[in-house]
Amino acid sequence: MFDTLSERLSGIFDKLTRRGALSEADVTEAMREVRRALIEADVALDVVRSFTDKVRSRAVGADVIRSVTPGQMVVKIVHDQLVEMLGSEAEPIDLNAPAPVPIMMVGLQGSGKTTTSAKIARRLTQQQKRKVLMASLDVRRPAAQEQLRVLGEQNGIDTLPIVAGQSPTAIATRALQAARLGGYDVVILDTAGRTHIDEPLMIEMAEIKAIAKPHEILLVADSLTGQDAVNLARSFDERVGITGIVLTRADGDGRGGAALSMRAVTGKPIKLLGTGEKSDALEDFHPGRVANRILG
Ligand code: GDP
Repeated sequence: MFDTLSERLSGIFDKLTRRGALSEADVTEAMREVRRALIEADVALDVVRSFTDKVRSRAVGADVIRSVTPGQMVVKIVHDQLVEMLGSEAEPIDLNAPAPVPIMMVGLQGSGKTTTSAKIARRLTQQQKRKVLMASLDVRRPAAQEQLRVLGEQNGIDTLPIVAGQSPTAIATRALQAARLGGYDVVILDTAGRTHIDEPLMIEMAEIKAIAKPHEILLVADSLTGQDAVNLARSFDERVGITGIVLTRADGDGRGGAALSMRAVTGKPIKLLGTGEKSDALEDFHPGRVANRILG
């Protein structure tokens, strides 16, 4: 996802570190190139501006320019600023609430909600030894509930028995009850998407939220959609309120802009990355590691 950006930046910084002494004009010129690289990577304009302003104001400080290795110091400043932009610390899924902890998955159709629900359930079961129940609240797409059931079966995760004709809120109520009675630690509610955001979708999400009182509301967004994913996160956050983001298709050739802008634009952390179709293709999002990957 970050390959092109990474190459561009390493070109810029190689030039800078080779120079030895640096003038303020050299730093300004390098920042102009960094700015262009970030914009081409589809990072939100406001985010690019604030990023390069912050780096420049720290980098033109007398200490940096007069230091023995000014180029390397600029790279270090860029690195630190990238980490800050990405949220500084990894933020795992928060299960710190009375069991069963409800996790609500939201997002557009095809973004990877159902797949990600199963990935999260599998990880919580296998790595954290939690007892997880999954329920599909998607009554729009006929095969959606069956898709989750099959994924559950493949991964050894229980799913709520399917009852035809129930509303999403009725399924949510039944899921919470079943999770309580069954002694589950976590209940994952996979909601229906749409091809784009519309009013009925937002109303449905708000109703489910009111009933389920989720501890986490995770927006699943497709990283290949770039700035659309960022706008989507902002809309969902304004209307429903989200606690975190899962960026899917991080294994694809997205330009990285969504990943780099999400936190700064929405204030909400990227918690996980989907890195493939298989149920184990899920990674924690570590700002420090991502910055290292970008800067090579
Ligand atoms: P939903 O409509 O939001 O529930 O989306 P699905 O979970 O059904 O996923 C849609 C398609 O995207 C499926 O074919 C998934 O296998 C695929 N998919 C989901 N997450 C990822 C990912 O991280 N990487 C890749 N390459 N494919 C993914």
